[in-house]
Amino acid sequence: MERYDLHCHSNVSDGTLTPAELVGRAAGRGVRRLALTDHDTVAGLDEAGRAAEQHGLELISGVELSTCWARRTIHVVGLGFDPDAPALHDGLARLAELRDERAERIAHSLDRAGIPGSLEGARAVARGPSLGRNHFARFLWRHLNLRHVGEVYRRYLVHNRPGYVHVAWPALEEAVGWIREAGGVAVLAHPGRYRLTKTKLRELIEAGQGAGMEAIEVASGRSSPAEIGWLADVARRHGLLASAGSDFHTHEQSWIDVGRLKPVPDDLPHVLGRVAVRH
Ligand code: MN
Ligand code: MN
Ligand code: MN
Repeated sequence: MERYDLHCHSNVSDGTLTPAELVGRAAGRGVRRLALTDHDTVAGLDEAGRAAEQHGLELISGVELSTCWARRTIHVVGLGFDPDAPALHDGLARLAELRDERAERIAHSLDRAGIPGSLEGARAVARGPSLGRNHFARFLWRHLNLRHVGEVYRRYLVHNRPGYVHVAWPALEEAVGWIREAGGVAVLAHPGRYRLTKTKLRELIEAGQGAGMEAIEVASGRSSPAEIGWLADVARRHGLLASAGSDFHTHEQSWIDVGRLKPVPDDLPHVLGRVAVRH
């Protein structure tokens, strides 16, 4: 199969490269089909589309939606949709509001914990309009002189820490509906990352499928061959299409690069057979 990547981020959400830089990097690594899947926004797709045309690769419209299922945050990737479809447009507007509110609440709680100025600090890191936890993490990392960004998360940005805030994201089923109504394919992102029991994962997939979810990511950036084998079985059992993406965010990490994917077992029907290319 041609080299592809169906999950990666630009600086429009919390990546570090502009959409055009990301497309250029993908093209340089031999990627022929790419979906830019920024968090809760499609604002980078036009720029990415122009760059894709210049580089002669196919851009598939993409997004990674923050959703809620059984009181957990679950990410749903949308692929091959019409970005101007009204239902999706309204959903994205609501997500943007929730993200803005979250940023203000994170800043407020860090302020109370004795760290002022984090909203401005995160904005300076962001380069784009949408603020995510990653921007706060990178601001804190520099500001507090910590060794790893991971340490920042553990000390400040996870549950029961001063910079953690709960967000009531839209229900998984609702977000899947937006993607479907926009003519796209809804994909459960990185199923191995939610620490679910097998029973819970089955319930999650059944809820998603009930709303029209058609695919899961069988391979994502860091997944091991054992995890890919397990998720391939899950896909077969539930009759789901297979998707795969690097979840690339930054060229500052060498271990995950755009287009660097572990192969998906080729007996599985692939989501690429279902998605339309954006011209
Ligand atoms: Mn991210
Ligand atoms: Mn994700
Ligand atoms: Mn992602």
